[in-house]
Amino acid sequence: MGKNYSTSRAYYEEAQQYIPGGVNSPVRAFKAVGHDPVFIARGEGAYLYDVDGNQYIDYVGSWGPLILGHRHPQVEEALRKTLEIGTSFGAPTLLETEMAKLIREIVPSIEMVRMVNSGTEATMSALRLARAYTGRDKIVKFAGCYHGHADPLLVKAGSGVLTLGIPSSPGVPNSIAQNTITAQFNDLAGMEAIFRAEGNNIAAVIVEPVPGNMGVVSPEPGFLEGLRKITKQYGALLIFDEVMTGFRVALGGAQALYNIDPDLTCLGKIIGGGLPVGAYGGKAEIMKMIAPTGPVYQAGTLSGNPLAMAAGLATLRVINTPGFYEELEKKAAFLAEGLADAAKEAGAKVYFTRVGSMLCCFFTEEKVRDFTSASTADTEAFGKFFRSMLEQGVYLAPSQFEALFVSSAHSMADLEKTIAASRIAFRAAIK
Ligand code: PMP
Repeated sequence: MGKNYSTSRAYYEEAQQYIPGGVNSPVRAFKAVGHDPVFIARGEGAYLYDVDGNQYIDYVGSWGPLILGHRHPQVEEALRKTLEIGTSFGAPTLLETEMAKLIREIVPSIEMVRMVNSGTEATMSALRLARAYTGRDKIVKFAGCYHGHADPLLVKAGSGVLTLGIPSSPGVPNSIAQNTITAQFNDLAGMEAIFRAEGNNIAAVIVEPVPGNMGVVSPEPGFLEGLRKITKQYGALLIFDEVMTGFRVALGGAQALYNIDPDLTCLGKIIGGGLPVGAYGGKAEIMKMIAPTGPVYQAGTLSGNPLAMAAGLATLRVINTPGFYEELEKKAAFLAEGLADAAKEAGAKVYFTRVGSMLCCFFTEEKVRDFTSASTADTEAFGKFFRSMLEQGVYLAPSQFEALFVSSAHSMADLEKTIAASRIAFRAAIK
């Protein structure tokens, strides 16, 4: 025991003098797990290496994008080739049409798509479009779901907002927050009540179809179907935020897995292959309202960036091959079962969730089905678990309320090592 983190510690000290909290995104600071962040030197396949030379099996995968692991040869090759033509033109390239065509082929509800630079931009723009299309102002989101940091969506949000215990961010004007109605995930009766009261003012319901930002929560049978039905009945749009679940829980995302046809879909993470990307798309009739065909303004200097398109296209081409998801599913199921056995053996009271290659181990005895039940998790116990896993060379997301991602780069030996480490970590967690 006793990994050396001295270089990371020195880098962190210095970073804090120039960058708020030393990080460019809050959860990276490890605040919720009682450990300093490790600074990364490089990644290779399933592994991360920190600046002190420690090796980790990586289950963060840059928070979801790296479904092929680090430095996949086909992604690198595509990037290298694209570098030879330049980095950005602010003018159309064929790569953007290829990306749009491939997205439409894989996700048929997306008839037209607009590329942006982050998931935040995707959801923000989809909301503007939904409001313009319906002529209504209110939106409904779910407590514990995170859709990026645009003002209307920072109300009862998940991810870092939940990890750091910030209920709703200062700086969001009341006039904006007032138009956001929050609902409980998996509660259809609650949703019906909201629509009975406000249905004619609601532009859209935005949902992570498999929430991954309050830990991972499964939609109960009939819940997503119910959302589709109610929104249709009241003329509101259904927006699936598949920034995390897109190309992750199945090739066609959660909408393919649960057979739901949303009006608009937000994408990010995997479609950028590790470069900054987001996208929103859906029914052509709605998408044609965006400038320059329509009056809804949305733009971006670097949108459709050639390097991002190349890395994303290469990633989509690899995952769009027979057997890819079957193999990933097998690995994720093996890991989830192994972790569950290890927890049981250690006597740790935990609740496991898994949808495809997204997993979560909640330190609670309750069945987790929404924000309220997720919040019963013992975050101190998770912190101990996290620190023990890190010490044993397993890099997990530094929060109870995040997903663990399995990639195709994880070998069975990596998964076995992880399960072995968890036997020690679960015992440490309940001490
Ligand atoms: N939506 C979901 C479901 C997400 O998980 C995230 C990021 N974790 C976002 C939106 C925001 O994406 P970005 O961080 O690229 O702005």
